[in-house]
Amino acid sequence: MDGDDCHGVCYREDADGKNEIAISRKVSEGTQASVLVHEVCHAVLGPLKLHNKTEERIVLRLEEGLASFLRDNPTLARRVINSLRR
Ligand SMILES: [Zn+2]
Repeated sequence: MDGDDCHGVCYREDADGKNEIAISRKVSEGTQASVLVHEVCHAVLGPLKLHNKTEERIVLRLEEGLASFLRDNPTLARRVINSLRR
């Protein structure tokens, strides 16, 4: 990962349909969490093959909204996570 603004990257689906996300360890745990949410959003939107600038705008909005939800509603977030467990 090069550059000051890039703290993570999502490697698009491999032959098995899996994505791989790498996050810099040089940033705070809070920034790593935000970067993880950001890169997961890229992984989710990847199959739509949007224009890069369009995808980035959507990802930034989703990152902001999801991070806000998780930060502001930790008890509810834990309940959702527990309910999603298989
Ligand atoms: Zn991005």
